[in-house]
Amino acid sequence: MLRVTDLHKTYGRTEVLKGVDFTVERGEVKALLGPSGSGKSTILRLMALLERPDRGEILLGGRRLGVQATGGRVVHLGERELARQRTDIGMVFQKFNLFNHLDALHNVMLGLTQVRGVKRAEAKEQAAAMLARVGLAERARHFPSELSGGQQQRVAIARALVMNPSVMLFDEPTSALDPELVGEVLAVMEQLAADGMTMVVVTHETRFARRVANEVAMFDSGSIVEQAPPDEFFDHPRHERTRKFLEHVH
Ligand code: ATP
Ligand code: MG
Repeated sequence: MLRVTDLHKTYGRTEVLKGVDFTVERGEVKALLGPSGSGKSTILRLMALLERPDRGEILLGGRRLGVQATGGRVVHLGERELARQRTDIGMVFQKFNLFNHLDALHNVMLGLTQVRGVKRAEAKEQAAAMLARVGLAERARHFPSELSGGQQQRVAIARALVMNPSVMLFDEPTSALDPELVGEVLAVMEQLAADGMTMVVVTHETRFARRVANEVAMFDSGSIVEQAPPDEFFDHPRHERTRKFLEHVH
């Protein structure tokens, strides 16, 4: 249901993505692994429509995102229409990117009121329900500075979920957390997967990938070098790059 084909992206002279293809079926979880600088964040940013590919397509539910075909010509969407399409793709970053001057509830409400035009009372109700879902019902009126890193990340997840996206993208969501806070965020993600959410997760948490992902893909220098179901990927990696990489993270 989420499919990218032949994605290319170059920054200056650096070819960061060299023609990436992959598909995540509805309700499936795909984990992306790979060394620093291999292009993992870039591909998520392209899928989240935060940047444009130089070439290639992003399809969600069969619909091509970011562009419009008019009279046989492909035209890039304007900012307004892009913003609307973005709400169907939830993105969670390593750094939570919450608004520090807003409490948890208002951070979660913002997309509903600003992008969707939902009335404040209704938005408040939905935001509160979403905070409860990530275990933060009691923290709704806390500001980011009054929340732990794990709690802030759960607010960020609730903020993405409240838009009712078809797919959730996670970019190393636990890498900025103290080790004792990692588990609570992974638990929320695991529950989300169990509830049937379609997810793409860039992570170094191999135990999580093994338990939750349907498929694991290894990124290296802007390409996917190997992808397989987790047991096969971790127990019988075929590619030399994957073997080397796994030696480091295990
Ligand atoms: P990490 O594990 O460190 O997060 P990554 O796999 O997410 O790495 P990317 O952030 O996608 O890697 O970056 C891939 C390459 O693209 C890097 O060489 C990076 O320096 C470069 N790059 C990323 N964004 C930009 C940008 N906006 N302008 C120029 N170069 C960029
Ligand atoms: Mg990255």
